[in-house]
Amino acid sequence: MRARVSRRRFLGLAGAGTALAWLVRLGYDVGPARAQVRDLKTAATTPVHSICYFCAVGCGVTVSVRDGELVCAEGDPDHPISRGRLCAKGMALHEMQRNPDRLTRVLYRAPGAAGWEERSWDWALDRIVERVKQTRDATLEYKNAAGTTVSRTEAIASLGGAILNNEECYAIVKLMRALGVLYIEHQARI
Ligand code: SF4
Repeated sequence: MRARVSRRRFLGLAGAGTALAWLVRLGYDVGPARAQVRDLKTAATTPVHSICYFCAVGCGVTVSVRDGELVCAEGDPDHPISRGRLCAKGMALHEMQRNPDRLTRVLYRAPGAAGWEERSWDWALDRIVERVKQTRDATLEYKNAAGTTVSRTEAIASLGGAILNNEECYAIVKLMRALGVLYIEHQARI
């Protein structure tokens, strides 16, 4: 029975094999190089196909995982949009995931407090809802300076990020308009 080799693996093996064959012909000792090939950082990893989360372009990423740990992330050559390419941010994706300074929990600093306290995600979401409602109730205007009927607050603003796709932007704008928020911006325009 013949072993199945993926396109990606085939290209890698073909490239390494050709280079080593030429070095042998030139009289080089390729023993250390062969050992190096066996020690590639992706050895014994499982490839997982995913999407870069940094922006709404949604480039395809092949993530190499070993024992539940992310080893590296590269552009997915079979992805129909990006075809193996990643920008500088996407190429640094695994560094972000493994960064020991990456925040993975809610930290809250109360007004006037010197330090941060750890809180739950549920607490943070309830707090945001509570603050938005309080602010809107306290600042909603029904008439503008010219006497025209309005229903708006100038005390809340919304700032979107590059990670938002069309549908998410649509939902956010609908919500903000329903709340009477006028200041709706996007990080890319600032
Ligand atoms: S940040 Fe870069 S790699 Fe990631 S989806 Fe956007 S363009 Fe693609």
